[in-house]
Amino acid sequence: SETVERHEFGAEVGRLLDLVVHALYSEREIFLRELVANAADAVDRRRFEALTDPALTLPEAPKLRILPDKEARTLTISDAGIGMGKADLVEHLGTIARSGTLAFAKSLAEAPAADKPSLIGQFGVGFYSAFMVADRVEVTSRRAGTEEAWLWASEGRGDYTLAPAERAEAGTDIVLHMKGDAEEFLEPFRLQTIIRKWADHIAIPITVARDGQDEPANEGTALWRKAKSDVTEEQYAEFYRHVAHAFDTPWATLHWRAEGMLDFAALLFVPGMKPFQAVEGERESRVRLHVRRMFITEEAGLLPPWLRFVHGVVDTEDLPLNVSREMLQATPVLARIRKAVTGRVLSELKARAKEPEDYAKFWENFGPVLKEGIFEDAEHRKDIAVLLRFRSSAVEGWTSLADYVSRMKEGQEAIYVLSGDDAAALAASPQLEGFRAKSVEVLLLSDHIDAFWPDRLTEFEGKPVRSVTQGTVDLSKVAGGEAAGEAADVTALLALLKEALKDQVSEVRATGRLVDSAVVLAAPQYGPDLQMQRLLRRAGR
Ligand code: ADP
Ligand code: MG
Repeated sequence: SETVERHEFGAEVGRLLDLVVHALYSEREIFLRELVANAADAVDRRRFEALTDPALTLPEAPKLRILPDKEARTLTISDAGIGMGKADLVEHLGTIARSGTLAFAKSLAEAPAADKPSLIGQFGVGFYSAFMVADRVEVTSRRAGTEEAWLWASEGRGDYTLAPAERAEAGTDIVLHMKGDAEEFLEPFRLQTIIRKWADHIAIPITVARDGQDEPANEGTALWRKAKSDVTEEQYAEFYRHVAHAFDTPWATLHWRAEGMLDFAALLFVPGMKPFQAVEGERESRVRLHVRRMFITEEAGLLPPWLRFVHGVVDTEDLPLNVSREMLQATPVLARIRKAVTGRVLSELKARAKEPEDYAKFWENFGPVLKEGIFEDAEHRKDIAVLLRFRSSAVEGWTSLADYVSRMKEGQEAIYVLSGDDAAALAASPQLEGFRAKSVEVLLLSDHIDAFWPDRLTEFEGKPVRSVTQGTVDLSKVAGGEAAGEAADVTALLALLKEALKDQVSEVRATGRLVDSAVVLAAPQYGPDLQMQRLLRRAGR
């Protein structure tokens, strides 16, 4: 009819659709997980918005219904969530809003065929995964608080249509017209198995219709409220994948309950892989805050930015259900929870650091993020310092500050570090000559953040941390090794050099820290070190 509007997909959508449909063929049952997760999110969002707008209040017992119809060859997923208006349908189902999804599409397209499966493993693929099993998808949705409903429909090629529709209540129906080779997903038993496997942790009741009856398909209890002994590894892992939008297995699972001064349950995860969406992007922690099981927000900053790689849920009894955003900012309860949760994560890391091989996996993924804490969090600086690991001029593999201190030479006054872009190049730097000659170990720092934090860690076990490029490093008190330089009187030469270099340097002086090289650039004792100066220059400062 003339009320039907035809829209082109955003350019990236077409490409993503193609990739998802073809590359994910062997794992296509995950379409159900994606659609169920979206429906559960929509119910959470409605519940949250209803706190400030009672007109949006959910119906009692908001079920998430799955309705297979063998005769019509359709599968319907129906929710009473927040729903989508016309503009929402265009924005959310017609374009790719999430930058991560776009990055996924790009890297998937560029990856060699053999790498595609593992790449796919790193992403949730969202709504478009419906086209793996359906050759036509119809979405009828009515935004909570509005009267009108809209029908979005597409065959997953270049375009979709929008038309006015009817829906008695707010919420969304997704109707999949199944492909000929996807009829297995019309079997109630098969659907129940998939739900149990992928979505058992979803805290809203999910039902699958069989012979006209809605049969429960999940437990519908919040995983984090259960006793540890009642949760399997696989259930934890599946929940982690859900909250973190990940596909790997967590490196650490922390599940505990605090009672007394504070009353909360927490279930947190440290990922086993570095997420594709670089940890450098967003800085805020996205740990989800629930109040008495009800999802409130993932923007409560429950962990400091330098622990933002941790995912999971904190569910507290100490806030009222109708907590507002303003209240979240002001309440001392959150600050106390944050402190407790941060402390617990740190002690877990400390315990796991006792197994160096295992800890190295974590460190290589998230070490650079953790170092930001040394820079910006004075309160936790000491706790973080013991978790740091380094490459070193003296030993293979990773080493800690404590190990370094235990190897310090007699008369050595400081912990020496050298930072630059690349650990291998650093190991060959002339800046190390004098240190090598005296067998003084130097830590080699090659992460970006390394230009910034050593200044802030003024000491470790009473030893100052010094950049070898900074000022007059004095190794004369260190016993042994060949005595380097400084024997000849070079006063006249120094004066000549100073004259020749003029304003390009602030000082020219003799040093005891070179053996084979004639000159080396040094930074002033109290200014930024050389790597820092390089970074500032690159940034145009
Ligand atoms: P993601 O869930 O990661 O945002 P999806 O592709 O799965 O990505 O979904 C895209 C968007 O479409 C969602 O963020 C949401 O805004 C909207 N959406 C999808 N399904 C529903 C639904 N059942 N109810 C309301 N909104 C939905
Ligand atoms: Mg989704």
